[in-house]
Amino acid sequence: MNRILILTGKAVVGILRLFRRNAGNLPGIILWHLTKGKACSMFRVDCPIIAVTGTNGKTSVTNCIAQLFEQSGKKIIINREGNNLDTGICSLLLRYCDSSGKVDADYLILETDESHVPVVYSQLKLETLIVLDFFRDQLDRNGEMETLIQKINGFCKTFEGNLILNGDDPNTARLGRANPANKNVKYFHAEPYAFATDTIYEASEGRFCPFCGSSLEYDYYQYSHIGRFRCPKCGFGDYKPYITASGIDLDKPVFTADGHEYSTKLNSIYNVYNMTAVVAAAKLYGIEQSVTDSVINNYTVNNGRMEKFILGDRETTLNLAKNPVGANMTLRVMNEQNGEKELLFVLNDNVADGLDVSWIWDINFTIFERVTRVVTSGTRAYDIAVRIKCSGYPAEKITVRPELDDAVEELAKTPGRKFVIANYTAVQPTRSALKRYIAKHGGECGE
Ligand SMILES: [Zn+2]
Repeated sequence: MNRILILTGKAVVGILRLFRRNAGNLPGIILWHLTKGKACSMFRVDCPIIAVTGTNGKTSVTNCIAQLFEQSGKKIIINREGNNLDTGICSLLLRYCDSSGKVDADYLILETDESHVPVVYSQLKLETLIVLDFFRDQLDRNGEMETLIQKINGFCKTFEGNLILNGDDPNTARLGRANPANKNVKYFHAEPYAFATDTIYEASEGRFCPFCGSSLEYDYYQYSHIGRFRCPKCGFGDYKPYITASGIDLDKPVFTADGHEYSTKLNSIYNVYNMTAVVAAAKLYGIEQSVTDSVINNYTVNNGRMEKFILGDRETTLNLAKNPVGANMTLRVMNEQNGEKELLFVLNDNVADGLDVSWIWDINFTIFERVTRVVTSGTRAYDIAVRIKCSGYPAEKITVRPELDDAVEELAKTPGRKFVIANYTAVQPTRSALKRYIAKHGGECGE
């Protein structure tokens, strides 16, 4: 039976290839139906599986960990295209297995959607789970965040493998108590960077102890609810970090983790957290220091995350923001920039965006500093304009241009530093519009 199902799935992959179609999730979806949701249990995986989950940073961390092993000469399988649901992972395994379902690799490194962790790893034996953070994200897809955390917590209750957790996120760190018998729980943590604050900066979750309900006390906040916290009553948050990032200087940008200095290409505090998670994985698996250096110091992204463009001669940074934290983070990076600047915000409400755009009300626009003009665009250009106006920003400085090309022209017509924020389905069209502008008026597309 197993063999027939595997061969059916492989046939679907083959047929799609024949038509030059990327198989994507489809073979997995078919197998999922044939097995009544147990598709991942069809495979025989003897190598260690490392999974990365969390709201933000999954793709970066998964790719970097994969590189740690690749550069160490190991054969890895990774869902690089971000097919991170059970059906996507199943499609990936179909591609790499033999007709008996055996998957041949040294390591499987799998970005895994938060809500799919229990489903996938009740069927495949997981060795290491890395949990980066939990933020409110695409509400109508995932349901409330607490439900999501409960799901993963339920999985962690019986999980005995390595659990690497962001110790500065109470939503994540609490998973460390799910299974008191698990001796393989490890936390990563970062010391305050220059823009850490004493008080919380943005609307966010996680301010109360999940165990006793007391208010959590913070030594500092890095961004949103991420920071060094403790529960004064039950001691939640008193852990000894496995890896600590210190000496964080985003101007250079450098940071030290586990006593070793890294100089990275990305200058955001979230990159420091992501790379600290990567250092934790490197330490756990005994990766050579020279390999870890090469991976972390060279890692860069080119997918609308802090991507640089020059429009004519105007320096422009594009950032994807699919949730309030991402957007707040971009606003913060923008504030850290001296001088005046202008913002283009592109908001779509397509199905993949989750239709519900209410998350924009959790973006803290009151932190705007020296933002002299805002242009809005996308299918919900007016909604985002209203949101910004309601934060107290002067209406006369906001221009609505629903068509993207018009919006980019509008943004670039004045000199100075530009920032662009685009949500999920808006980011690729926005990149294209920026490139069209550059093709027409000159400039540069860079990283
Ligand atoms: Zn407590």
